[in-house]
Order: sequence, then C-alpha cells, then structure tokens
Amino acid sequence: MNKLITLLCTVALAVSAPVFAKTVKIGMAIDDLRLERWQKDRDFFVEKAEALGAKVYVQSSNSNETTQISQIENMISRGVDVLVIIPYNGKVLSNVIAEAKSEGIRVLAYDRLINNADIDFYLSFDNEKVGELQAQALIERKADGNFFLMGGSPVDNNAKLFRQGQMNVLQPLIDKGDIKVVGDQWVDGWLAENALKIMENALTANDNNIDVVVASNDSTAGGAIQALDAQGLAGKVHISGQDADLAASRRVVAGTQTMTIYKPIKLLATTAAELAVQMGNGQMPESNSSLNNGTKDVPSYLLTPIPVDKSNIDQTVIADGFHSKDDVYQ
Ligand code: BGC
Repeated sequence: MNKLITLLCTVALAVSAPVFAKTVKIGMAIDDLRLERWQKDRDFFVEKAEALGAKVYVQSSNSNETTQISQIENMISRGVDVLVIIPYNGKVLSNVIAEAKSEGIRVLAYDRLINNADIDFYLSFDNEKVGELQAQALIERKADGNFFLMGGSPVDNNAKLFRQGQMNVLQPLIDKGDIKVVGDQWVDGWLAENALKIMENALTANDNNIDVVVASNDSTAGGAIQALDAQGLAGKVHISGQDADLAASRRVVAGTQTMTIYKPIKLLATTAAELAVQMGNGQMPESNSSLNNGTKDVPSYLLTPIPVDKSNIDQTVIADGFHSKDDVYQ
C-alpha cells in the first residue's frame, strides 16, 4: 500500500511539474569588434537571443587567429550549446570545430563561411552579388581607364566572393582593353590604416593616374579616400564600399565615396539569433542555398544586399533607421 501511495505521489508530481524550456547557451566569437559593423551585429544578436530566452557569451579576437581559437575553446568548456562564429581566418578553425562537434555543439558560421570544417549552417548576404553591385555602380560612372583593385582581408572567404563578383562585371571590359588594372592588393584585417598605405603607394607608383578604386568595404574605402584626399583627388576618383558605416554614409552624401552596400544588419543578426536558438533546441533551420566549404555542401541562408548612392540613401539606410538623417547629413 505504501509503495502504491509513493508511486501515485511521484506520478502526480511528474504530471504537475511545469515544463521549463531549456535555456540555450550561445557562444558568439566575433572577428573584430573594432570595426563599426560588428558592434551592430553583436548588439542586435544579443538583444534578440536574450529576448528568446538564450544566454550569450561574446568575445572579439581583434583579428588574431590564435586568440579566436582559444576563445572558442573557452566557450566549449563553458558548455555552450551553439557556437556562432564570425571567423577572422576561415581556414584555421577545422580542429576547434571538430572538438565542438564531438561535444554535440552546433556551429553556425555567421556572415563569413568557415572552410574545411563540419559546420551545421551558414547565414550571410549574397556576397558574390555584393561584388557585382559594387563594380556595376562604378562602371555606370566610368567604364574605362585605370582601375585599382583593393581586396579585403586575404583570409576572409567573403573577400574572395566580393572579388569574384567584381570580376564578373569587370573582366569583359578588361578583356576588351577598356579597363586597365594598374594594381591589385589585399588589405590585412580590413583595416583603414593598411588601406591608406596601400593607396598612397599606388598613387605614387601610378603618378596619381588612377580613375577608379574598387574597394570592397567602407573601412578600406575610408583609408583609401584619406590618401586620395591628400592628393586633392577625393571626389574625383570613383570608389566603392560596403556596410553603410556612418562615416561612409557621410562620404557618400558629400560625394567623396561613390557608393556603399547596405546590408540590413538587424535582419541578419535577428535571423541568426532565431536560428541559433532553434539549433540549440536540436532543430535544423530552413535554407535557401548551399555553399561548399571544402568539407561539405553547407546548408545556407543568403539575404539580399542593397546598393546605395546619394540618390537612394534616404529611402534605404535612413528610412530603415540604420542611421538618422541628422547623423548622415550632420
Ligand atoms: C563583411 C563585410 C565587412 C568586412 C570587414 C566582411 O566579411 O562581409 O561586411 O566590411 O568583413 O569586417
């Protein structure tokens, strides 16, 4: 009889015990929070993930691959369920990701693909399209003359995709002999100070005879424009960018930067937070694309980038509240 009462009590307790949703623990390993765009990614991501009941640990490696690997190891030992990684160097994380996977941790590559690793999902913008839009905007203004190619970080897979997209548009004009490529360099860490030096040297080497600079993002465009400005060429040389950083948006309206690419970061970051929570709960998110990373075809979700120049900055970057009108037109 006693046994029966104990059994009944246990069943009653089990039935009435509330079912608590699991708190998903997410480790967010960011390449470099020194760049404006990643601060936005972090803020939107953490806000959304926390609203969904998750707990997020954030770390920035400041463009150092050894630091990033140890930060990820640290997240693994803290017992995270999901790793959201913006890799500095997409090619050196295979081992640490294998370690995470052996602990049952899900891995989401955020914005930049991670090569040669068994990652679960990739979320980004269509990066080849970004490069096409940059080159397209430039050749609409100047489709011949001396072009300087300024690539992004050589260890960022996106930098290669941007270049691929740019060349899709430029190569036919190069082949025709309309465009002459007078230099091609890649900017370590995407840092403005490195871009400044590269541009200074390129101007010297070409006697200032450069018509167009194909810059892959706003931080590198900013450095290049500083060098152009010192030679009285800012606003005369067409130059692309990407990210709609505040400083770049100001340069676009001032006419010293031809265009930028607006990527609604809030959408990327909040989608990533939703996906990470789903993955932490053992579900597999929906994909709309797949990219091969050397190990597998990674299920991917790619969002659409938007080209922005003086003519549509109000209807895009400002209308979306990405920056206020006062800030941009200061
Ligand atoms: C991102 C760009 C960013 C660059 C530098 C790339 O991987 O896609 O938006 O400007 O990294 O951080």
